[in-house]
Amino acid sequence: MNNRISTLFNINYPIIQAGMIWASGWKLASAVSNAGALGLIGAGSMYPDVLREHIIKCKATTDKPFGVNLPLLYPDIDKHIQTIIEQKVPIVFTSAGNPKTWTNILKQNGIIVVHVVSSSLFAQKAEAAGVDAIVAEGFEAGGHNGREETTTLVLIPAVREAVKIPVIAAGGIATGRQMLAVIVLGADGVQIGSRFVCTPEASSHLSFKEAIVNAKEGDTMLSLKKIVPVRLLKNHFFDEVKQAELRGDDEEQLKNLLGRGRAKKGMFEGDLNEGELEIGQVSALIKEIKPAAEVVKEIWNDFKMCKCANL
Ligand code: NDP
Ligand code: NDP
Repeated sequence: MNNRISTLFNINYPIIQAGMIWASGWKLASAVSNAGALGLIGAGSMYPDVLREHIIKCKATTDKPFGVNLPLLYPDIDKHIQTIIEQKVPIVFTSAGNPKTWTNILKQNGIIVVHVVSSSLFAQKAEAAGVDAIVAEGFEAGGHNGREETTTLVLIPAVREAVKIPVIAAGGIATGRQMLAVIVLGADGVQIGSRFVCTPEASSHLSFKEAIVNAKEGDTMLSLKKIVPVRLLKNHFFDEVKQAELRGDDEEQLKNLLGRGRAKKGMFEGDLNEGELEIGQVSALIKEIKPAAEVVKEIWNDFKMCKCANL
């Protein structure tokens, strides 16, 4: 399919695998890129030498375009930027920060830049900062989330109206049918996270993948809004946060409860009770762990079939 997104990235299908901490290392990114979609290495949880290692391995395992997702809150961000430029990574998705800071520098180095937003206002700011495309991510999404809780169904048409650059829809998408829905709403492509966590290539712990497969409707919820809103799979840690929020704990107390490295404990080490388990609402629709290439093929075939049937 030739459209603005597949042309921009030089890929076969306008499907992007989201950069996700502790899930998307080089194995997942290269498997997705080899399948004709766009794979992203999630740099947020990687020390600078780890990111370098993953980029080198990704280049060795795919000759297709791939990218890096860089949360701009990252403490050693200038080291990551330096590695990305040195290693000639062709595409960078930035998130969680101001797109004005790094877009120019990346673009001067010939890198395609995409920024993740959760509102029309931030979409316009990103366009003004000179990014090539934006990801508009709705409330259904896992992990870090928009404060305003705008759903994908409302966000995509609003962002489509607000900007001229290509729009990639994210949040609540795991099937071809859902992909068709957001294309109808005005998106040029989709970014998919949760579905790609349930693949053998994702570096997350098997227990976490199995918990996603077993998740039902209502099993995820947005929490920690006083610090940074994040959608979590309910578990003992989530219950503790909820109790703390109900008794009115302040930001400092919530930060103490969160501690350090909760996300790694849950998603990478597989501690399903005490760890932070970041995943989207769409986990309720994910029924099995299967290879990333099969996920891409299934979404694309489903999308084409529904499109041809005018569904
Ligand atoms: P490799 O197969 O080369 O290595 C995997 C590494 O991860 C091994 O050192 C292994 O430790 C360690 N590991 C595996 N499972 C766990 C776990 N449950 N808890 C803690 N450590 C674990 O994989 P890659 O080439 O994919 O990874 C290279 C490097 O990148 C490693 O340092 C890895 O930890 C890191 N990484 C970071 C990610 C992130 O999002 N920050 C994502 C993926 C990998 P052992 O020697 O004990 O088997
Ligand atoms: P914490 O402060 O609780 O822990 C930091 C974690 O990041 C540790 O597990 C640490 O690994 C790892 N890490 C990697 N590089 C560094 C570094 N340079 N300095 C310190 N720690 C580092 O943070 P979180 O786990 O909650 O979040 C980590 C990062 O991921 C943040 O940058 C955050 O913005 C980003 N993030 C992005 C999301 C997204 O949607 N893209 C979602 C959630 C978080 P180790 O334990 O091995 O020391």
